[in-house]
Amino acid sequence: MFESLSGRLSGVIDGLGKRGALSEADVAEAMREVRLAMLDADVALPVVKDFVNKVREGAVGHEVLDSISPGQAVAKIVNDALIDALGGAGAVPLNLNAVPPAPILMVGLQGSGKTTTSGKIALRLSTREKKKVLLASLDTQRPAAQLQLQQLAERAGVMSLPIVAGQAPLEIAARAMDTGRREGFDVVILDTAGRLSIDEALMEEVRQIRAATSPVETLLVVDAMTGQDAVNTAKIFNEAVGVTGVVMTRMDGDARGGAALSMRAITGAPIKLTGSGEKLDALEEFHPERVAGRILG
Ligand code: GDP
Repeated sequence: MFESLSGRLSGVIDGLGKRGALSEADVAEAMREVRLAMLDADVALPVVKDFVNKVREGAVGHEVLDSISPGQAVAKIVNDALIDALGGAGAVPLNLNAVPPAPILMVGLQGSGKTTTSGKIALRLSTREKKKVLLASLDTQRPAAQLQLQQLAERAGVMSLPIVAGQAPLEIAARAMDTGRREGFDVVILDTAGRLSIDEALMEEVRQIRAATSPVETLLVVDAMTGQDAVNTAKIFNEAVGVTGVVMTRMDGDARGGAALSMRAITGAPIKLTGSGEKLDALEEFHPERVAGRILG
């Protein structure tokens, strides 16, 4: 997994001298490489700094076994720390713990893949967990948004809330929850409007919807290609609405996935799922060890 980092670190520090415990100089040299690899993978700068500082402290003085080189030893420490920072080994499932219907609130910037992900989650819950799922678009900003979700619902074989022209997002949310209760749905997925950039009106709207529906999950959908501004997006959404989980989309692209670490570090919320394509079944559990390998390159 981290052979390439291990090779690079060995090139940098294995020639530095005696074996035994890792010296401050060994670790400092190695951390320069790690920092570059992480910035290259688009991990946000403050997150890189924090990660590198923590790993540096833990690595200095670490005894290197005879069977491996100092470069290999540091690479293992870095890899383990990164997996840990990404949430450890196990995938965290969606929380549906509520008196039905369990509301799931989808938030994120426009184009992040929010609507598609709503459809993917609906398909997954209805087929794998046999849940009765209602999809509702609260996006009154983009004229075609409600129609797009309705079509996705048809493809996923789940119900969508009938479209009523002229209703405001809060009214649609209330109607979705009412329908969910009345018609015995297990889960109601509320797809909120996204904007191209964050603005206060959008945040206020999401805040009100959250207060009115008390979601069990507030999922922040983020494009894996999002780089340094990932921090800002995550911070603002998290402060405004309290993110409970993150979905990283477009992991099928060539993005190295550094945004995953930024998201996790900023929100403290687990990355619950990843999108790996445009099709409705292209949704996977998050595997920290795979993404760690991708970030370290
Ligand atoms: P929204 O504005 O956040 O609701 O974004 P959409 O759901 O409309 O998605 C925007 C575009 O990204 C669409 O063309 C989707 O098909 C595409 N998309 C969404 N998720 C993924 C993914 O995981 N991989 C790829 N390759 N494309 C995706």
